[in-house]
Amino acid sequence: MYLKSIEVNGFKSFAHKMIFKFEHGITGIVGPNGSGKSNVADAVRWVLGEQRAKQLRGSKMEDVIFAGTELRKPMGSAYVAITLDNSDHNLPIQFEEVTVARRVYRSGESEYLINGSACRRKDIVELFFDTGIGKEGYSIIGQGQIEQILSGKPEDRRELFDEAAGIVKYKKNKLETQRS
Ligand code: ATP
Ligand code: MG
Repeated sequence: MYLKSIEVNGFKSFAHKMIFKFEHGITGIVGPNGSGKSNVADAVRWVLGEQRAKQLRGSKMEDVIFAGTELRKPMGSAYVAITLDNSDHNLPIQFEEVTVARRVYRSGESEYLINGSACRRKDIVELFFDTGIGKEGYSIIGQGQIEQILSGKPEDRRELFDEAAGIVKYKKNKLETQRS
């Protein structure tokens, strides 16, 4: 499984529709300060279901919508879609290619989609359990996060190991069974 592309439209500094395509190997994103490099990582966190504005370096969720510049009007909605190659079926879904998308309007109305079909946030979160890719996964390591991992509480560090060991979904199922 690998990330093939990220599409952003109206998300943070990306006023235009823009598609980042990733080939095999390593891709670096370079650019001057404030040009939007970190916004690309924020887009991935957001589409995976991040709900905490602070984690996305904003103060409220609406801050993810392009706010306008001197030359461009603000946008009414933000959209992000990531496409993953799933030919190894690491994601528990029958498709060879999976596109996960999220859109939010200024009214606060929002939607999630898996391969074009509307779904719940929960469906996206569960799709990525144990893959290391979820918003709490270790595939996105933000600035300062290494230190947080090293100096964090043992319980929090344990979550990272659970994810790597692939036992998050079993733990979750156990919890749900115990509750019912
Ligand atoms: P650095 O090298 O300093 O880390 P960077 O390339 O990572 O910079 P980002 O933090 O990704 O830059 O981008 C910050 C830019 O995004 C700022 O110019 C900010 O104005 C812009 N930005 C953030 N949110 C919005 C928004 N909702 N609408 C328009 N622009 C936004
Ligand atoms: Mg940055």
